Amino acid sequence: MNQSIGQHLRSRFDAFKLSASNHSIAGEVDAARLSRLADRIPEGTSNAMIAWQLDGGCDAQGRPALTLTLEGALPQICQRCLRPFAVEVSHRTELLLARNEAELARLDIEDTEVVLADVPLDAHALVEDELLLSLPFAPRHEDGTCVPAVPAAEKRDAVSPLAGLAAALRKKAGE
Ligand SMILES: [Zn+2]
Repeated sequence: MNQSIGQHLRSRFDAFKLSASNHSIAGEVDAARLSRLADRIPEGTSNAMIAWQLDGGCDAQGRPALTLTLEGALPQICQRCLRPFAVEVSHRTELLLARNEAELARLDIEDTEVVLADVPLDAHALVEDELLLSLPFAPRHEDGTCVPAVPAAEKRDAVSPLAGLAAALRKKAGE
């Protein structure tokens, strides 16, 4: 394998080999560069690094599986106040491996995630799948932490009651 092909395929791996060897692979990917995620991330985002790790192993029943761990943050727009904020990504999922379509259909009935691994898998595609599944449908700040919208016209009005209160307090203190 020459250098350029190695570069091109660097996020591809043999899932069954990784599972059987109990080895791990890891890397980082800029979520803003993942094509299917692009329209879920605010325009102009250039750097949304997500660290990923894939651990080979077996599930509780001894079937070939991978554990995918994701850490990072994704820029999102709050659907309540329309301000940008970061959604923390801290995610761990077990992926069962299927050798063929029939096995995929059989394993898919269970309450687990299954990936068809009859060809080398693309780690970045797995990361993208998980991010798409885990992103909230309507991302929002936590309750009570939205940035209040203060239109310019209301700002002036908001000052006067406070100023009045301050004057009243001064007056009271002077009595
Ligand atoms: Zn908000």
